[in-house]
Amino acid sequence: MVIEQVIEKVKNRDPDQKEFHQAVWEVLESIEPVLKKNPQYMKAKILERIVEPERQIMFRVPWTDDKGEVQVNRGFRVQFNSAIGPYKGGLRFHPSVNLSTMKFLGFEQTFKNSLTGLPMGGGKGGSDFNATGKSESEVMRFCQSFMMELYRHIGPDTDVPAGDIGVGGREIGYLFGMYKKLQNEFTGVLTGKGRNWGGSLIRPEATGFGVVYYTQEMLRTDNLDIKGKTIAISGFGNVAWGVAKKCEMLGAKVVTLSGPDGYIYDENGVTGAKVDYMLQIRASGNDCIKDYADKYDVPFFPGERPWSVKCDIAIPCAIQNELGLDDAKKIIDNGCKYVTEAANMPCTAEAVEYLLKNGAMVAPAKAANAGGVATSGLEMSQNSMRLSWNAEEVDTRLHQIMVNIYKNCYDSAEKYGHKGNLIVGANIAGFVKVADAMLEQGIV
Ligand code: GLU
Repeated sequence: MVIEQVIEKVKNRDPDQKEFHQAVWEVLESIEPVLKKNPQYMKAKILERIVEPERQIMFRVPWTDDKGEVQVNRGFRVQFNSAIGPYKGGLRFHPSVNLSTMKFLGFEQTFKNSLTGLPMGGGKGGSDFNATGKSESEVMRFCQSFMMELYRHIGPDTDVPAGDIGVGGREIGYLFGMYKKLQNEFTGVLTGKGRNWGGSLIRPEATGFGVVYYTQEMLRTDNLDIKGKTIAISGFGNVAWGVAKKCEMLGAKVVTLSGPDGYIYDENGVTGAKVDYMLQIRASGNDCIKDYADKYDVPFFPGERPWSVKCDIAIPCAIQNELGLDDAKKIIDNGCKYVTEAANMPCTAEAVEYLLKNGAMVAPAKAANAGGVATSGLEMSQNSMRLSWNAEEVDTRLHQIMVNIYKNCYDSAEKYGHKGNLIVGANIAGFVKVADAMLEQGIV
């Protein structure tokens, strides 16, 4: 079968790119029923083409630290697919960044962006730069050096990067400043900008809000409401923050947060000033959650993940493959029936299989966390029109986009004989739109 052949070829070409193999396998194995009904995709070699990035750029990022020593990092931009719009996707600054993680993220982004219904292709970039313990001026010099190379590859109609892990409003500011200086142009070349210089309201909250809106739709399928539900989440960055904020607004209780150092359990819920405190610990650059336990006098579990806690909904918000088979078993043992992937590919393939086999509903990342990039798309529209919408207008559009994505996933799964399997539904719906655009544009 063509699917197996394509997966084999991907593995043989780049045997060490494990995360990329995992992402390719997960998408391709879902779309078999679509290929059977649409032989034109095989004829035009859509699978072979869709797994190969259109362009991948790797570059040296030299910068000087506060001691005057020269440091060298590696920079990436993988421009994966531009069939439905300019490349679009975040920049990740994290020590785990390499070509495999960049390719898996760019590949996922292609289908995620397709699901939003907005005209955005897929891309991803970043660096193995570790911001932990770096001073403000070191971060600035790094961002400036990164942009000194990246600027020649991007543009408002070519490729529009944004934030991801390790890249927030501060970094986008430094990157934008350098782009503007080099190009002598003020354009919407990046999203996630500050609100006084072209950023969209709600963009900082958007990924987390979208995750909760999608979760609400999933619960609605079973005639349930998120109000009164207990929720375990991991991470404490931008996505986790948005989830906690929206959960509080809707009357649900988030009881855990986690960092590389362990997790905290707050039985009264992460609410009010505690939600804002998440931003402070993130801004401190220490990357540990124990500070929360010290400040609010709640239990801290060093070196552990939060998945053994009893909850109604589990929402991994940290990083790829953070939720494995053992975690999935604990989640099921605790009677939890809903898992929403808020980080990109946070569940391993074994974990997903176990959750599904044991009757849980799994909301896949490329659908559930699409609210961030969707709101980036709304930022691009506002920049092009040179106007800005108020918070309510952006939030209403975001909500409607998430409702549409859920419906699209649910209906596509049902149409192809996998009722209730949102993973299959998301992969099919995301794939078909990109594949049709590629067909219509010929062999390019
Ligand atoms: N990094 C986010 C994601 O994984 C947002 C990307 C964007 O806004 O372009 O979707």
